[in-house]
Amino acid sequence: MTETLPPCPDCASTFTYEMDALFVCPECGHEWTPETETRVRDSVGNVLADGDTVTVIKDLKVKGSSSVVKVGTKVRGIRLVEGDHDIDCKVPGIGQMGLKSEFVKKVAQ
Ligand SMILES: [Zn+2]
Repeated sequence: MTETLPPCPDCASTFTYEMDALFVCPECGHEWTPETETRVRDSVGNVLADGDTVTVIKDLKVKGSSSVVKVGTKVRGIRLVEGDHDIDCKVPGIGQMGLKSEFVKKVAQ
């Protein structure tokens, strides 16, 4: 079992441990149930996690600029965030931006 537990949604502590059906954060005392955590999935249903590498599956216009993130662009080290664009990442040649998980596909590492 090498799967790492998710960081605390309150304080981002990575010392999360499991107690019965709960995840518990030893640093701030936050407890939460993993079942209710929204899992972010890519275009084909793979569960995404922080640090994953993904590829973009269609050309995406970058809001507020003339740049386009080309289909096939590989993006390393994604970070999952709340919101409409649920992936925060640094796109090569573009910079820091938000992507929608439905427009990416996880790359097996
Ligand atoms: Zn915490």
